[in-house]
Amino acid sequence: MPEFIDQDIKFLPGVGPQRAELLKKELRIFTFRDLLYYFPYKYIDRTKFHKVSEINANQAYIQVKGRIKHFDLHGEARKQRLSAVFYDETGSLDLIWFSGIKYIRENLKPGQEYVAFGKPSVFNGRVNLIHPELEGAEKEQITTGVLQAYYNTTETLKKRFLTTRAINKLQYNLAIQIDGKIYETLPPHVREKLKLLPLNQSLRQIHFPENTHTLQKATYRLKFEELFYIQLKILSLKHKREEAFKGFIFSTIGYNFNKFYENNLPFNLTNAQKKVIKEIRRDLGSGKQMNRLLQGDVGSGKTLVALMVALIAFDNGFQASLMAPTEILAIQHFNTIKKMLDGIGVKIALLTGSTKSRERKIIHHGIETGEIQLLVGTHALIEDTVSFHKLGLVIIDEQHRFGVAQRARLWKKNSGIPPHVLVMTATPIPRTLAMTLYGDLDVSVIDELPPGRKPIETRHFYENRRKEVYQFIRQQIESGRQAYIVYPLISESEKLDLKNLENGYELLKEVFPRYKLSMVHGRLKPAEKDQEMQLFKEGKTQIMVATTVIEVGVDVPNASVMIIESAERFGLSQLHQLRGRVGRGAEQSYCLLMSSYKISNESRKRLETMVRTNDGFEIAEVDLQLRGPGDLEGTQQSGLGINLNIASLGKDGEILRVARNMASDVLDDDPRLEKHENQLLLYHLQRMKNTEFDWSVIS
Ligand code: ADP
Ligand code: MG
Repeated sequence: MPEFIDQDIKFLPGVGPQRAELLKKELRIFTFRDLLYYFPYKYIDRTKFHKVSEINANQAYIQVKGRIKHFDLHGEARKQRLSAVFYDETGSLDLIWFSGIKYIRENLKPGQEYVAFGKPSVFNGRVNLIHPELEGAEKEQITTGVLQAYYNTTETLKKRFLTTRAINKLQYNLAIQIDGKIYETLPPHVREKLKLLPLNQSLRQIHFPENTHTLQKATYRLKFEELFYIQLKILSLKHKREEAFKGFIFSTIGYNFNKFYENNLPFNLTNAQKKVIKEIRRDLGSGKQMNRLLQGDVGSGKTLVALMVALIAFDNGFQASLMAPTEILAIQHFNTIKKMLDGIGVKIALLTGSTKSRERKIIHHGIETGEIQLLVGTHALIEDTVSFHKLGLVIIDEQHRFGVAQRARLWKKNSGIPPHVLVMTATPIPRTLAMTLYGDLDVSVIDELPPGRKPIETRHFYENRRKEVYQFIRQQIESGRQAYIVYPLISESEKLDLKNLENGYELLKEVFPRYKLSMVHGRLKPAEKDQEMQLFKEGKTQIMVATTVIEVGVDVPNASVMIIESAERFGLSQLHQLRGRVGRGAEQSYCLLMSSYKISNESRKRLETMVRTNDGFEIAEVDLQLRGPGDLEGTQQSGLGINLNIASLGKDGEILRVARNMASDVLDDDPRLEKHENQLLLYHLQRMKNTEFDWSVIS
C-alpha cells in the first residue's frame, strides 16, 4: 500500500485516466505528490474588481465583471480572430481570441454575467483583453484569502481545458484530503532552530495562501527543504569519499621546487598565490585525496600555481598531468611551462588528439616507465589508454568545460590510491552555484591580480562610430601594440559563421591595408591554428581575426585592444572571458564592444555590466540573475542537472547559505546520520536516489 501522496494522479477526484495521461505527459505529474509539489509561478490579488471605465493599457492584470453583447468573426481560415464586446454599466471593451474560437462561441453566452481576467492592451483606440480568462460571475474563486495561485500549463493542456484555473481546482481537491496524511520531512531539531513552518501548512499555504506573510513563510520553508537536501547529499558524499579514499602524502619540498623558486621564478608571487599554495600544500600533506577548485580571474596567475604544485609532486617521486579544454591551450601550456622549467630538468611531454601514432607510442612508453614526469594534453588524456607509472596529481584547467563525471573518471586512473585533483577555473562561479555544482570540492580563490596591471577600459559603441573605433585600433598598432577582432557565431550553420568571419576578414584587410592579419576559427586544423597563433604571438601579424576559439587562456601580452563584433550576441561570462585576452601586459588595454542599435534590455544590461566592472565575480552574479543557472555556461556540461522545483540559485543565495550551514552542522555532529533524531534525514536522502538528480556522477 503506497503512502497516500504516492498514489497515481488518476485517482484524484477531477482527474481520471485521460487527464492523468495528459498531466503525466505534459507536466510529469504522476502522483499526488507531484501535483502537490507543482508550485504556482505567481499569485494575483483577486479581491479587486475594476469597472470598465477605469481600465487602461498601462495596468497589469485586472478583473472586471460584465456581459458579452455579441461576437464578431474577422479574417479568413487560419488567420481568424474572434472578438466580443464586453460591457458593464460604465462602458465597454473588447475580448479577443486567436484560437479556440469554436469552443468560445459554443460555450459563452451573450447576456450572462462573467468575470473576465487579463492584461489590458489597446488596439485601434479601444481597450481589449486578449485571451482573457472567463468564468461565470456566480462561481466562487478557490482561494483561502486574497491571493490566487497561477500555474504554468502547456498549449496542449489548455486545449484540453487543463488551464491554470483547472489545476488550481485539482490542487483544491487534493488539499481538502491531505489533513493528517502528509508526513514532515524535516526533523524537529532542524525546524525549530530555523523556526520553519511545518510541511503540511507550507504546502497548503503555497497553493492557497491566506496572506502574503504566510505565503512568504511557506515559500521559505519549501525552498529551504529543497536546497538543504541537496547540500546534505553533496556533503555526505564528500564525507564518504574522504573516508573511502586515502591520498598520497607529499611530504617533501625538494630540488625541483626550490630550484625553480630560486632560479626560474621571474617575479614575486602575489599574496593570493602564496595563500592558495599553502592551502593546497595542507591538502597534500593530509593523507586524504585532494579535490580542490582553484578559482581566479583571468590573468590572476593560476598556471603558475599549478606548476609549482606539480613541482612538489615531482619532488615526491610522482608524475603529474595537466589537461586543457582545447588543443591551442594545451600547446600553449606546454610551451610556457617548458620555458619556465628551463634548466630544471623535468621531463615533459605533450599529448593531444593530433599527436602522431609513432610519437604517441614513445610518449605512452615514457609515461608507463615514469620517465616522463609531466604530461600536458587535452581531454584525450583521459580517453586515451595512457597508463601512468605513478600519477600523483591531475590538474584540470578551465573546468567549465570539464564535467564532473569526467573528473570522477580520473580518480580511477590509479588502482588503489587516486591522484590529487586540482581543478582551475577562470569563470568565476557565484558562490551559490559553486556550492551546488562543485559542492563536493574545497575551494581556493586567487582574489588578487599581479601588481602593475592596469584595469582594462571597456566601452560600448554603436555602428555609427565604427570609423573612430578603427582609427583607435590604428593608433594602438602604430604605437607597437596588437589587436584582436572577435566575431560571434551568428547562425546555426558553421558554414555561414565561417562566411561571416571570412567576410569580416576581407573587409578588415581593406580597412587596414598596411597591417598583417591572422585568422583563427574552429574549422582550422590544429596545426594551422597553432601556426596562426604563433605568428600573432611573435608579433609578425598585428591583428588577430577570430571566433571565440581564442576565448580561453590564450596569452599574448602585447595585444592591448580587442574589438568584439555584435557584442550583444555574447553571453556575459563569454564576454568576460574574451576580454581577459587583453590586459595581460604592462600597457593600458581596451575592450571595445560593437553592437547594433536594436538590442534587447537584457543585452543592454550585459553590455552595461561589462563597461561598469572588471570584477569577474560581480559579472558572474549578474549573469546568474539574468539567465538563471540552467543556462550558465558549464552547468550543462557539468553532468549535474540541477533541477530545482522552487528555489533559485540566482535569487536564493541566502537560503542556500543557511541550508549549507545546517547540513554541515548536522553532518559534523553525526557524519553517517546514525542518530535517532536524524533518521528522517537518512530516509529522505535515500528516497532522493531515485530522483532526476544523477548523484552517481559525483559519488
Ligand atoms: P590565468 O591562467 O589565471 O588566467 P596565467 O597563469 O596565464 O593566468 O597568468 C597570466 C600572466 O601573468 C602570465 O603571463 C604569468 O606569467 C603572469 N604572472 C603570474 N603570476 C604572476 C606574478 N605573481 N607576478 C607577475 N606576473 C605574474
Ligand atoms: Mg589560464
